[in-house]
Amino acid sequence: MKTKPDYKFWFVVGSQPLYGEETLRQVKEDAKTIVNGLNESGKLQYPVEFKLVATTAESITKFMKEANYQDEVAGVITWMHTFSPAKNWIRGTQLLQKPLLHLCTQFLNHIPFDSIDMDYMNLHQSAHGDREYEYINQRLHVPDTIVYGWWKDEKVQEQIAAWQHVAIAYNESFHIRIARFGDTMRDVAVTEGDKVAAQIKLGWTVDYYPIHELVEAVNAISEKDIDRQYEELKEKFELVEGDNDHEKYVHAVRYQLREYLGLKQFLDDRGYNAFCDNFQDLAGLEQLPGLAVQLLQLQGYGFGPEGDFKTAGLSRLIKVLADNKKTGLMEDYTLDLRQGHEAIMGSHMLEVDPTLASDKPRVEVHPLGIGGKADPARLVFTGSQGDGIYITLSYFDDGYKFVSYPVDAKIPEKEMPKLPTAKQMWTPKVGLANGAKAWMYAGGGHHSVISLNATEEQLKELARLFKVELVDIDS
Ligand code: MN
Repeated sequence: MKTKPDYKFWFVVGSQPLYGEETLRQVKEDAKTIVNGLNESGKLQYPVEFKLVATTAESITKFMKEANYQDEVAGVITWMHTFSPAKNWIRGTQLLQKPLLHLCTQFLNHIPFDSIDMDYMNLHQSAHGDREYEYINQRLHVPDTIVYGWWKDEKVQEQIAAWQHVAIAYNESFHIRIARFGDTMRDVAVTEGDKVAAQIKLGWTVDYYPIHELVEAVNAISEKDIDRQYEELKEKFELVEGDNDHEKYVHAVRYQLREYLGLKQFLDDRGYNAFCDNFQDLAGLEQLPGLAVQLLQLQGYGFGPEGDFKTAGLSRLIKVLADNKKTGLMEDYTLDLRQGHEAIMGSHMLEVDPTLASDKPRVEVHPLGIGGKADPARLVFTGSQGDGIYITLSYFDDGYKFVSYPVDAKIPEKEMPKLPTAKQMWTPKVGLANGAKAWMYAGGGHHSVISLNATEEQLKELARLFKVELVDIDS
């Protein structure tokens, strides 16, 4: 997954000068052992770097300012090995502009009954040091995350890893740049939003480009580049000509590859990692981009259909959060309302994210009633099953709001041989009727992002970091 810098995390251990040189040396050694242990656990995707034993307000303030300044530092992990008077943390914590994880752990996971003495107890006192420290985070309303438990436990390491992804997504949000080809679909309300507010609250840059500029980039792609891409396509996917005559099929697929390469060139040249288009504004393009969009989604680009820049940004954000695994744009389409089978079938005209596939996607060419363009090529596949989250971003008079619920993602009970698009089934964990009603009462729209890799907990942490309300429909 392409992100701006190669991110890492800084680790700082809190203490105070009262303990003396010898103790502080031990604190430092223990902290280094923990950091090495975390890095070697194989659980963390991003490295942790030990920085210092912080004993004074000055050193803490300097450390936090430095963490802000270094682009590759995605967040700060603090550990109170001993007691660290929290007034020392006030200024630095106020200045920190990056995600903060408070690791509440202890060097040993047990009490050494036979040998414990006063010295040992003074050195290993995270149990009260973490309370002193966290008090000030709470008083300052810092949206930190507490991970509690022994640092060698897999569960603890997995929680740190999950938070790392939240921190990366938060940092990357300020690098989300969305190109809008065309405006929003005529008459539609839910795809609208305030572009400046999106930048203020979420860090997203949202820019408009007239479609003819994209058309120029698409037309400039050489046949030779398309040849190479066609060969790659044959290796990765199943090419199914169906009822099309050979020439028409090949032309349709090659034209989507032309659109793919043109879009990619256009976005990369200008530093965009998300985009939206509108089927009402395609003058100069032969087909609505379908396969083209899906190939970009596979590489982690965000996408919103019908001019929906909010979903373009949100899909990029959640794809970063989920490491681009089983995550992408989804739209509520058709219902199964039979008792015991309740589910929503999600799909789209063409642009369903192929990271969701549980089978080998097929490249197919079929007519598309909407848009009045030539039959577009698209990837057709079946979605996946497992625990997932479903999330959207709505805009109201008082600003942005996330709406989400956890879902059971499912494989359809039966094949749908006449439906020439990818599909994903799911049921909200609170039940279809309860979930759908709560979703609509919260003003959640029909364009969303589904992820079978990100978790509800991560969404909550992310929303807290952005200070954007999350309506979490989970009980
Ligand atoms: Mn749609």
